[in-house]
Amino acid sequence: MEQVASYHLPPQTGAGFTMDAGQVLRIIDPEGEQVADVAAFAREDRREMLSTKRTIDYSGRIYATTGSLLYSNRSRVLFTVVADTAGRHGLLLPPCSPEMFKIMYGAASHPSCLVNLAEGLAPFGIGVDEITETLNCFMNVEVSPDGELTIGVPASRAGDYVDLRAEMDLFIGLTACSAEKTNNGSLKPIDALIFGAG
Ligand SMILES: [Zn+2]
Repeated sequence: MEQVASYHLPPQTGAGFTMDAGQVLRIIDPEGEQVADVAAFAREDRREMLSTKRTIDYSGRIYATTGSLLYSNRSRVLFTVVADTAGRHGLLLPPCSPEMFKIMYGAASHPSCLVNLAEGLAPFGIGVDEITETLNCFMNVEVSPDGELTIGVPASRAGDYVDLRAEMDLFIGLTACSAEKTNNGSLKPIDALIFGAG
């Protein structure tokens, strides 16, 4: 595959970019134990976007890995996971937000995936209220039999990656997650590459 773009996200930052159908987005955890959130919107109509809830429903699973299809709110496939060296990516949680840090941790202000996604997607006319559900790459959430969630250490080691093939033309928001708890207490960078179709 021919590499057509690359992105380096320093800790607690994000980026926005476009993908064409057939291109593959490789999201790399260069140091290990770092979550990356992905938001995606159809370029032909931004009201169509990634729906992790529909993805959970159709797959019957709360994690994505190689072979998973990621669906939109209109039940079309946005991505196919074509490779994965980490083995587990979360579908349960929204991007961390300033409000989440306030409600859960009492923080007056804190960097967040939501704000970073909104900044990255603003050039494409996508506002903060439209960013609701994200793929939580490398995130490790366990669910107990009575439904309690435990955020564990990400399963990813240095250099692990996941490849997402775009099944339609997309606007993408990507972050290096800002939440200390999700990333085993240290905030690290995320790298991304885009490979051409075929
Ligand atoms: Zn986050």
